[in-house]
This record gives sequence, C-alpha cells and structure tokens, in this order.
Amino acid sequence: MNFSYWEHDAFLRNIDYLVVGSGLVGLNTALKIKEQAPEKHVVVIERGALPNGASSKNAGFACFGSVSELLDDLKTMPEAEVFALVKKRWDGLKALRNMLGDEQIGFDPCGGQELFSSDQRALYETCRDAIPYLNNGLKSLIGGEPYTDNSAGDRFGRDTFPYAIFNHMEGSIDTGKMIQALLKKVAEADIQIINGLKLESFEENEQSVLVTTDYGRLETRYLALCTNGFAKHHLPAAKIEPARNQVVVTSPIPNMPIKGTFHVQEGYVYFRNVEDRLLIGGFRHLFRDQERTDAMELTDNVQRTIYDFISSKLLPDTPFTIDYSWSGIMGIGASKSYICQKISSRVFCGIRLGGMGVALGSLVGQELADLIGREVQM
Ligand SMILES: Cc1cc2nc3c(=O)[nH]c(=O)nc-3n(C[C@H](O)[C@H](O)[C@H](O)COP(=O)(O)OP(=O)(O)OC[C@H]3O[C@@H](n4cnc5c(N)ncnc54)[C@H](O)[C@@H]3O)c2cc1C
Repeated sequence: MNFSYWEHDAFLRNIDYLVVGSGLVGLNTALKIKEQAPEKHVVVIERGALPNGASSKNAGFACFGSVSELLDDLKTMPEAEVFALVKKRWDGLKALRNMLGDEQIGFDPCGGQELFSSDQRALYETCRDAIPYLNNGLKSLIGGEPYTDNSAGDRFGRDTFPYAIFNHMEGSIDTGKMIQALLKKVAEADIQIINGLKLESFEENEQSVLVTTDYGRLETRYLALCTNGFAKHHLPAAKIEPARNQVVVTSPIPNMPIKGTFHVQEGYVYFRNVEDRLLIGGFRHLFRDQERTDAMELTDNVQRTIYDFISSKLLPDTPFTIDYSWSGIMGIGASKSYICQKISSRVFCGIRLGGMGVALGSLVGQELADLIGREVQM
C-alpha cells in the first residue's frame, strides 16, 4: 500500500515531530511539544482504531502505592528513590486532574484499600507496623499522611479479608472519559492523530528519520517512540518487557456491596466498582510466563481464575455474568523506573510505566517533550 499524493500532501508533508503511540504518554508528549513549538507540525500515529495498549484498557486507579508495594520497592531501591517515585505519582495525578478537570475524568476521591486474607497475617502485620514510618516519610512530600489501619473499620469484605489498610489520598477515575478528554485536547491543539497506522521500522539520516509503516513511508525531522509494552519490536535493546493484564466487568449487581478501589495479593489483583458493576483484573503472578506477552488475547485459565475469585471471595451467593472482558499490555522491567531518553540524535522514547501510568503518564509526556526541547532546535 502507498499513500496517495493527496494524503501525503494534506496529512504527512513536512512533519517536524512524529509521535508513535496515542496512549497517555504519546498524547501528552505531542501536546507539550506543541505548547513549546506551536508553529511546528506534530503528528501522532497509532496502530489501533483507538489507543490499543494500556491507556484505555486500565483499571482507572488514581493510586500512588500501597504499603506492601512500597515495602517491596524498599527491598531493591534506596529509600529516597522510593519516596521520590511516590511524590512523582502524586504530582502526576494532580497534573492530570488540573489539565483535564475532575469532572471530565470522572475523578472520585474514594480512597484505596489494601486487603489481606487471614493467611497473610504476617504480611499485614509487617505493613501495619510500617504505617508510621511511611506516613512520616511521605508527609512533607505529598502534604498528608495517607495510610491508616482499617481492619476494624466498617468496610467491604471483613469475612474474607480480615485485615485492611486504607489510603485516604487515593481515588478512581473513569478511564474512558479521561482518554476521551485527552484526545479532545490534542485535537484542539491542532495535532493530527492518524489511527490504524503501525510503525514497522525507522532509519535515521542527517536531516530526518524515514519511517516505514504498514501503509507506506513517511519522513519526520524527529521521532518520539511512546509505544510502552510494544517498544521491543522497534527498540530491541530497550530494557522493557510486555506484561499482559486481563480485566473483566460484571453485569450490574443489585445492592452492590463493593464501593471504591481495592488491592489484594500485593497489588497483583485489583478490583473496584464501576457504578453498580464490578471491575476486576490481574492474576498475572499466577501465570507469569504465559502473561509475559503483548498478544492482546484472553485465556481460559486467567478468565476462569477471575470468575472463581469473584464467586468465591467477592460476591458469594450473588448471581452475575461477565459482560466485558479484555486485555491490556503494560511495559515493565527489572527496575521500576520509567525510561525517558534520547536514543540517537533524532529519536527519543518515553516508555516502561509499569502499573503507574495513570499517575505518571502526563509527567513522562512533559519530561519527554522537555528533553526533546533541550536537545533539538525547536
Ligand atoms: C489492565 C491494566 C490495568 C492498569 N491499571 C492501572 C491503574 O489502575 N492505575 C495506573 O496508574 N496504571 C494502570 N495501568 C498502567 C497504565 O495504564 C499504563 O502505565 C499507561 O497507560 C501507559 O501509557 P503509555 O502511553 O506509556 O502506553 P500505552 O497506553 O500502552 O500506549 C502505547 C500505544 O502505542 C501504540 N503502539 C504500539 N506499537 C505501535 C506501533 N508499532 N505503531 C503505532 N502505534 C503503536 C499502542 O497501540 C498504544 O496505544 C494499567 C495497565 C493495564 C494494562
């Protein structure tokens, strides 16, 4: 296939900045480049009909770290780095809310609960004992003490999960509304998004980058790769791996008992209400090798595990059906930090946001645009 003269002339001529991927990072990068260089031609290409990675597939937790997650991070990262990452996530959430507006993204300051089953008592006790230390360390960074022991509180799931830690500074967003609002903002900024166009390879020369797509070739002065869990296809040396997460949403549940956002099994399983439906996803820790893929498929074993977990632990004796099932792809690595870097003189990337992208996406977009701004003559 080839672009026609008309297509090339109208959409693809003289591209200054080509952003690949219309997830949170790609859209924010494009917006921030355009803010810095309003007269430049900024184009985003996206392989999917809609964003097709994580940003429109996620669970919509506006979260910055459960106690068990932070304690786990402290095993491999220095304390200052762990706290700095929490601050970035907190600041990123504020930036997202300020940019798009709470109403537009369906922000609900419902808090977040980390739940523990009775056989996780030792883990719970370790987490509970760490609350004063974490609150103290975070207080001056995020302006509050997030964690309280909520085991005795009036809350969902006390029979199945006798222990709980509440984070009153977290919340949820409506992922669909959020990505829709961001796409609208990008369109208003006069940035062209071309859907259904997949980057296959690129080749840099002195003046430009020649990009081969599944639809034809195009040329750009600079290239920003924001392809997250798929980046390995065009950046084989990047230290990033895909991690699939399967998610379901049930039918509406009469007198829905679950309200708010919940993490269990050290964050590998997460669930929340979406109005009176239950959204639940994860379990990749039980199927590690299988879920280390960017194939956006569903598998019987994970779907069965999710179904059994709902019917035995979350909504026993409650009739429900699975109304929606999908998979999304995260980009993860041995280190928890994201990658925002210059690959060569004309190619840059912002990738590997793990399970933190709702919080970090807008900041990483800003950071990548700033990096490009510093490195090239905008
Ligand atoms: C199921 C699930 C639940 C999650 N829940 C949460 C949560 O509750 N809270 C939270 O903070 N984070 C969560 N995350 C993580 C968060 O969604 C991601 O970190 C974030 O969306 C990453 O944004 P991104 O723009 O880097 O990547 P993506 O959104 O994956 O965007 C990359 C884009 O690049 C496109 N692309 C890839 N290759 C090509 C190519 N060759 N050519 C053209 N386009 C290409 C893809 O189609 C995709 O749209 C979750 C992730 C998943 C998968």
